[in-house]
Amino acid sequence: MMPQIRDGFKPGRGSIIGGMRAPARFLLAAALAAAAVTAAAAAPAKLRVLATVLPLKEFAAEVAGDRAEVSLLLPPGAGVHTWQPRPGDIARLAECDLLLFIGSGLEPWLPGLLKAFPPGRVRTLEAAAGLGLPGPGGGGGEEAHGHGALDPHVWLDFELDQRIVERIAAELGRLDPAGEALFTANAARLAGRLRGLDAAYRRGLDGCRGRTVVLAGHGAFGYLARRYGLVQMSLYGLSPDAQPRPRDLMAAVDFCRAEGITTVFFENSVAPDLSRTLAREIGGRVFVLHSGHNVTREQQAGGASFFGLMEENLAALRDGLGCR
Ligand SMILES: [Zn+2]
Repeated sequence: MMPQIRDGFKPGRGSIIGGMRAPARFLLAAALAAAAVTAAAAAPAKLRVLATVLPLKEFAAEVAGDRAEVSLLLPPGAGVHTWQPRPGDIARLAECDLLLFIGSGLEPWLPGLLKAFPPGRVRTLEAAAGLGLPGPGGGGGEEAHGHGALDPHVWLDFELDQRIVERIAAELGRLDPAGEALFTANAARLAGRLRGLDAAYRRGLDGCRGRTVVLAGHGAFGYLARRYGLVQMSLYGLSPDAQPRPRDLMAAVDFCRAEGITTVFFENSVAPDLSRTLAREIGGRVFVLHSGHNVTREQQAGGASFFGLMEENLAALRDGLGCR
């Protein structure tokens, strides 16, 4: 005898579902499932946050926890100074609740991209605004490399980063007041990590044989250099657009020979030819520094993070500058 499967449900006149033929039951189940999806969509959705550079993305993700989906606007490996947005990026911006960008001229393509929207349609937070940065012509001699322009690479100053994190937390709190306490707590923890990174740099770069960072790349490390008493000598100026001329290279060779410098730093986003040429001319070694704008697909697959890249930079600086 076949075993009977009892489900406790007795089809009868009083039953709606039981009286249905199978296709009708299927349709109702589908309608209920669809209703459930609609109900889920109506519940407070996660904030959608876009960021133009890796540190802003990681800061926002850490502050927001699971209350936001945070992603980079730029694809892996794209350079933030020179990127060209595609039509699909307009759609991504249209769907986001907040766009985090640095400002100070780092993203020259952004004003044009925002023009695709009515004024105020895309909510933005300019990280470099309100940090009290030195104006054009102000500050130390390093400004000369930027020809009077503001240095936008503010995330390479870990104290400025703490203030950026505070601003991100405040903005997320305005967008999602229910998450405010979480954002504040997460921001405080992240600020603690940044203070730890700052302390590690301070300790690690104290008592080095050399203090000049000769950079066969663009001058992204001005804030970092100032903070830890180093001198940045970059061959590209503030943007990798500005190609060094042969006479800049010769001047760098002369400078290194005169100062006894035998270490050249270069960014892995820049072709290594120049750094190799320079290193060969001065009989020196080459070390990689990450500006941290973005990571390549390969670095991403290897789990690269802003903090990890900054720790690699510290190790390269200590090795290259001969620190105790
Ligand atoms: Zn840069």
